[in-house]
Amino acid sequence: MSARELAEAVRRGERTAQSLLEASLRAIDERNDELHVFLHVDEPGARAAARLVDDRVARGEDPGRLAGVPIALKDNLCQTGVPTTCSSRILEGWRPPYSATVIDRLIGAGAVPVGKTNLDEFAMGSSTETSAFGPTRNPLDPTRVPGGSSGGSAASVAAGMTPLALGSDTGGSIRQPAALCGIVGVKPTYGMVSRYGLIAFASSLDQIGPFAADVADAALLLEVIAGHDPMDSTSLPEPAPDLLAHLDDGVAGRRVGLVRELLDGADPEIVAAVERATGVLRDAGATVVELSIPELRLGLSAYYLIAPAEASSNLARYDGVRYGLRVDGDDVTAMNEATRTAGFGAEVKRRIMLGTYALSAGYYDAYYGQALKVRTQMIEAFRRAYQRVDLLIGATTPSVAFPFGSKTNDPMAMYLSDVFTIPTNLAGEAALSLPFGRGEADLPIGVQLLGPGRSEPLLFAAARVLERVERGS
Ligand code: GLN
Repeated sequence: MSARELAEAVRRGERTAQSLLEASLRAIDERNDELHVFLHVDEPGARAAARLVDDRVARGEDPGRLAGVPIALKDNLCQTGVPTTCSSRILEGWRPPYSATVIDRLIGAGAVPVGKTNLDEFAMGSSTETSAFGPTRNPLDPTRVPGGSSGGSAASVAAGMTPLALGSDTGGSIRQPAALCGIVGVKPTYGMVSRYGLIAFASSLDQIGPFAADVADAALLLEVIAGHDPMDSTSLPEPAPDLLAHLDDGVAGRRVGLVRELLDGADPEIVAAVERATGVLRDAGATVVELSIPELRLGLSAYYLIAPAEASSNLARYDGVRYGLRVDGDDVTAMNEATRTAGFGAEVKRRIMLGTYALSAGYYDAYYGQALKVRTQMIEAFRRAYQRVDLLIGATTPSVAFPFGSKTNDPMAMYLSDVFTIPTNLAGEAALSLPFGRGEADLPIGVQLLGPGRSEPLLFAAARVLERVERGS
């Protein structure tokens, strides 16, 4: 059953939130040792939340649009009193004194947060292999990665442990694991979802978004978490978008751009899937044009200066004083150094060094400054494209889920996993990935739909057109 149907059943009193939770806990119990999806399952907290929902139904109240629906949370989202690690030793044992706005909104809508999912350390990676606590396995093929950095959240939905999950997307960390696990994942417009309580990686790029098994469930979850929040100064001053109301609008009369750069280097099966999806949109009444946006090729280089630069500043707060781990030293500087040396993994250290270098006097203009100019060019290039078309289509990833270890010794090969997703983050725009067809080893392929800021209603409607053909419903 979909999250929508489950919530309706709970609201009508046909199912209890507690029974949905027990089913979710059983599914976690069955496969978590094998797949390593959850770092922490908050059984007491989840049971209390589910009981509250059932009590409200018993009193004749409406617990909300996600009544009783179990949800998994990426472990870079702060939840009061619940261990939050970012998959890093440096935060081990830390329990946040406050909850992210998205979690408050979920609970306000009756959802039941079940636990915290594995990720690449500080969300830096594309496979969950940089987690200090060991990788997550892809539920569809446990010899392969689930993608990352939100690999645990994607795997939770793909394994049927929870109907919904939240992730964060800085350069592709929702869309890429969604593609590799065969589910729907959305990177909303920058500012649409509050980042309050999301542990910062690169603040000008980070955005929280939904994972779900189908397009309508993803729309419902985004409606619940979106909308202005005064606690985040970059939050858009507007209410959540109406997505479900426009889900069946179709694409008749819409102009779709098939982007050459969003297929370059992709596996042939993936190119074929995107072309087939484009054909479906054309059959549904859209006009399709082929486009080239050469600036997209610069995305990866700009991202690997801007994101590490912001990360090097954001991660300065882990000093052995305020959070988690402390390794003693003779004085404060020695303590800071010993803590950070022991607490951060290799990829996080690489990013801090890259970012510190790019921001240092003498190199700032040549690296960080240049990257900001490229970012502006990217924004301009998208703007010109969106004068010609309403939305863009391309691949989400160059390949399907890859085997463990196949890219861990070559950072560049790993970084290339996000070559198609990064431009959207740099431009602050919206994009989603949905499963469409199968590739190598019969693994799912993700097709990516991209639109300008606030184009979510159109993106979801287009995704629904593709989903209907793909599933026959
Ligand atoms: N894989 C990219 C990186 O390593 C994107 C990560 C993300 O979106 N959090 O930076």
